[in-house]
Amino acid sequence: VPNITASLLLTSHSFLSQEASAMTSTPGNKAEGRVLLPSTIIPNRYDLVVTPDLEAFTFKGEVKIDLDISADVTGNQITMHAKELCFISASFVDLTGVVQAAEEIRVNTKDTTVTFVFDSQIPAMSKISLTIEYTGFLNNQMAGFYRSSYTDIHGESKVMASTQFESLDARRAFPCWDEPARKAVFGVTLIVPAKLHAFSNMPETSCKSLPGGKLKELSFLDSPKMSSYLLAFCVGEFDFIQAQTNNGVMVRVYTPPGKSSSGTFALDCAVKSLDAYDEFFGIHYPLPKLDMVGIPEFAAGAMENWGLVTYREVDLLIDPTKASSNQKQRVCTVVTHELAHQWFGNLVTMEWWDDLWLNEGFASWAENFAADLIHPEYEMWDQFTTGHLSAALRLDALKSSHPIQVAIHRAEEV
Ligand SMILES: [Zn+2]
Repeated sequence: VPNITASLLLTSHSFLSQEASAMTSTPGNKAEGRVLLPSTIIPNRYDLVVTPDLEAFTFKGEVKIDLDISADVTGNQITMHAKELCFISASFVDLTGVVQAAEEIRVNTKDTTVTFVFDSQIPAMSKISLTIEYTGFLNNQMAGFYRSSYTDIHGESKVMASTQFESLDARRAFPCWDEPARKAVFGVTLIVPAKLHAFSNMPETSCKSLPGGKLKELSFLDSPKMSSYLLAFCVGEFDFIQAQTNNGVMVRVYTPPGKSSSGTFALDCAVKSLDAYDEFFGIHYPLPKLDMVGIPEFAAGAMENWGLVTYREVDLLIDPTKASSNQKQRVCTVVTHELAHQWFGNLVTMEWWDDLWLNEGFASWAENFAADLIHPEYEMWDQFTTGHLSAALRLDALKSSHPIQVAIHRAEEV
């Protein structure tokens, strides 16, 4: 049963007044001044069930988070990231099976956190499972879990929903420890209209029709341990084409219905670059599948979500018989860039955002390396000298030039 403050949040869709910050500023050399969640509570696993409503532009969420509690935990509160979510209830169950419901739910809009306050102490040196029910908005701001509008091949207006979490918008889809070093396993379940496709980072493990027949429940294989900013899911109408890599990874390109032939060029680049990276890195691509999806409304060029890479449509889908050489090279290098991140960034991740330059710098180098192997006729390294290198020197000649590594204290500064 929700308490009074939680009910207020649910019914008014408003937030409580500012609370004292629960965030800590870390001492120590490189980490000095970083504003982080307390390290005494460690998330290991999230089981996330999300039910989007593509007509009302809202979603329901329930997340169960398995937490390790360290010896030096103090107090009766648990704080994590959350933004623009409305909370219905929260409770945890400890190792003895005793359930405790949150007495109070405090939202801090400035820190984008939520604090659950319990009656008694959080049990030190133990494990608990925290279950949170909440609702959110399918926004149109291309961040978090958001909606895109588009016109299909029959001229009909359609809505699809997808995610963009880097750097700090996973917290807009579910309450979580939204820091890159807080890696955890994610088990995702999506409840969606029966006629739509839905997918996530990992392959589907089950699909069952729900009573009434209008909705279906799709569950996906557990993810590897990974950062929250790499989680992704999509819901909508799609066609797809697929091909396999030498090491048996199924690669798919999802397109709007009727447009699957526009994905053939990117699919070929993806299969060949996964093969090239498997060999070059000496570690095979670690997931069983790789999906690539064109999103009608997308802020960046593409996003390297592990196993589910999202793209601005023009950076993925082209007609290879009509596209210019420049368009093909663009699609090829965006694909090879995002797939380099599957290792560099996703498998190996910066501890904090001040090393993001290395994540992006390496992918920017590797996009040329793989594109040159796949399409030597592009002469990528000659283009590198006149393109990337001279652009970098031009920037570096300005008075505004700065060190590559810049201290980041709050994730908002990324
Ligand atoms: Zn990148």
